[in-house]
Amino acid sequence: MEILFDLHTHTIMSGHAYNTIEENIVEAYNIGLQAYGFSDHGPAIEGGPAEVYFRHFRIFPRHYKNMYVLCGVEAVITDYDGHIDLNGKALERVDYAIASLHSWCLQPGTCAENMRAYRGAMQNPYVKIIGHPDDQAYETDYDELAYMAQKYGVALELNESSLDPESVRSGSVREKMRLIMKYCRRYQTPVILGSDAHHKSYIARFEQVRELLASENFPQELVLNNSLAKLRRVLNHPDIIK
Ligand SMILES: [Zn+2]
Ligand SMILES: [Zn+2]
Repeated sequence: MEILFDLHTHTIMSGHAYNTIEENIVEAYNIGLQAYGFSDHGPAIEGGPAEVYFRHFRIFPRHYKNMYVLCGVEAVITDYDGHIDLNGKALERVDYAIASLHSWCLQPGTCAENMRAYRGAMQNPYVKIIGHPDDQAYETDYDELAYMAQKYGVALELNESSLDPESVRSGSVREKMRLIMKYCRRYQTPVILGSDAHHKSYIARFEQVRELLASENFPQELVLNNSLAKLRRVLNHPDIIK
């Protein structure tokens, strides 16, 4: 399966990633991606960019040579109602929003609380991707999650960095991803591969997620990354992609 884009990547603007946007863009182009998105953490993350960083995205060129460049955010879900740390004009300006739970920002709740947080985030019309729902810190009903995602037109992410043994989310991640795939297949919910690269060398590296997809014989139609037409589904401004 050909992977045409990676939307979950970080730059020095996140405060704990190590390449500039420019460096990431050149790397993405050199490895042959058709679209590249940078998604720095939202303002709730310590050392992350201020809201104005996102509000000013209108000036950013959306092309590099023949590759699309997309300006996104990995927003932080800040409470169990599913509020995120970017709103108003800034949220309207981003090309796409990934919403994620991070245990250093929101204490894991009960399964019901975590599900309410996910539901609230999915009901936000600008959120079209849930980032790393594999996090074992947050007890999750994956059947319900995949059902809700389908209902709200949201893709669930299969996050390559979660499978890194050094990841904060490691542990039963593989198990959780198998559940995500099982229920996404049941409800025909789209999944999106995200590298969660915090260094350019990880951009669009999906060895482990690919292996999992193959071992589960997961239908390629439900994977968004193999088509620019499918990429449009997670964008706030789909017209960027012609
Ligand atoms: Zn990060
Ligand atoms: Zn994250």
